[in-house]
Amino acid sequence: MKEFETFAVHAGEGADPETGALRQPLHMSTTFKLPGFGIKLFDAIYMDSARPPYAYTRWCNPTLRALEDRLVALEGAEAAVVLSSGMAAVSALIFTLLSSGDHLIASEVCYAGSVELFGEHLPRFGIEVSLVDTSDLKQVEDALRPNTKLIYAETPANPILRISDISALAQIAHEASAQLAVDSTWASPALQRPLALGADYVIHSLTKFINGHGDALGGAVLGSEEGIKRIRKDMLVHLGGALSPFNAWLINRGLVTLPVRMHKHSQNAYEVARFLENHPKVARVFYPGLISHPHYDLAKKQMTDFWGMLTFQLKGGLGTAITLAEKIKLFQYATSLGHAHSLLFYYPTDIYIDAASYLNAEQKQRIREWTGDGIMRASIGLESPDDLIADLDRALRARTVKGAVGPLAYRLMKRFASG
Ligand SMILES: *Cc1c(COP(=O)(O)O)cnc(C)c1O
Repeated sequence: MKEFETFAVHAGEGADPETGALRQPLHMSTTFKLPGFGIKLFDAIYMDSARPPYAYTRWCNPTLRALEDRLVALEGAEAAVVLSSGMAAVSALIFTLLSSGDHLIASEVCYAGSVELFGEHLPRFGIEVSLVDTSDLKQVEDALRPNTKLIYAETPANPILRISDISALAQIAHEASAQLAVDSTWASPALQRPLALGADYVIHSLTKFINGHGDALGGAVLGSEEGIKRIRKDMLVHLGGALSPFNAWLINRGLVTLPVRMHKHSQNAYEVARFLENHPKVARVFYPGLISHPHYDLAKKQMTDFWGMLTFQLKGGLGTAITLAEKIKLFQYATSLGHAHSLLFYYPTDIYIDAASYLNAEQKQRIREWTGDGIMRASIGLESPDDLIADLDRALRARTVKGAVGPLAYRLMKRFASG
């Protein structure tokens, strides 16, 4: 989409009519003077629209609206609703669309907060859940039931980088009179447009690449006018996950440089992936821009660039992982992703799987086939690729930390494994 870079700068933001300010003023006001009187008028005007007039900031606010309008332009959606975090977006969508007795098919591996919500909590509300590998269309088809309402796919999937075929999933969902929601956080609208591929809803954690500076949590759901109106009215208002206008303002500022940043993240990650693939301490690299990735062709078809995330398996397992985590200087050992800073985070497979009571033996086996004994997730930032590679090379060549430090670090990781 040619206009994408222009939308990133201009959509949803014009000169302020009163002051001429070119940057959107930050509106922190929680409440707005109402034009009339009466609760009926209130319901009709304020609750029955994807773009309600301003009354109370939990429902909408000019600074939130500016961010919504820019996201709508970038994602090619009819409407958007922004929320306080990616998880607030996931939960608002799920609890708007699903009721007791409905069935959800979802990625068995996706962001931990999402898959735990599906696997551990939705059954408490009488919602049936099937967790499958959504990159395997047969598994999705086999999981369909007469009461399937929603297929939920995260692609690329955090943390193992499986890619699911969005248009094929949309077709399966629609033939079964269900809908498809895609968590597209790892791609951002710069690299992948799920609505154009047939999805009904797109979810983003704005916290990651969209903000890009690691200083504001936020989330969004995008889709049809009617669908977004329902999410705002039914669950933003009632679950209450409202985004702070200050965060919206920061995220909107970050969004301006999304196209440029994603290009640089992709270039850097490609360089790092190629370096790691040839490193003697590295057993396997998962990066969809490398031909060795099992979903390389699909990634090439579905995404316009290969983004800044990669994962790799280490020879020497946990020992090498701990050494790497302790010896890096430029990379930081931290969770989260999509920032200017490069980050590493390790997932020991046994701990990850032990903690996931909602996964059966077959699902655990499938995950183990991808991850081996553990994977290191790398969010590649905007630094010089040469400096990043030098940092990794030095840390990988350091002597493996053995003995007392290992078990201690292992226990610590176990405590934080769900983070
Ligand atoms: C981080 C993340 C989320 C959750 O977002 P928060 O803003 O941290 O609540 C959801 N999905 C994916 C793919 C993520 O990476």
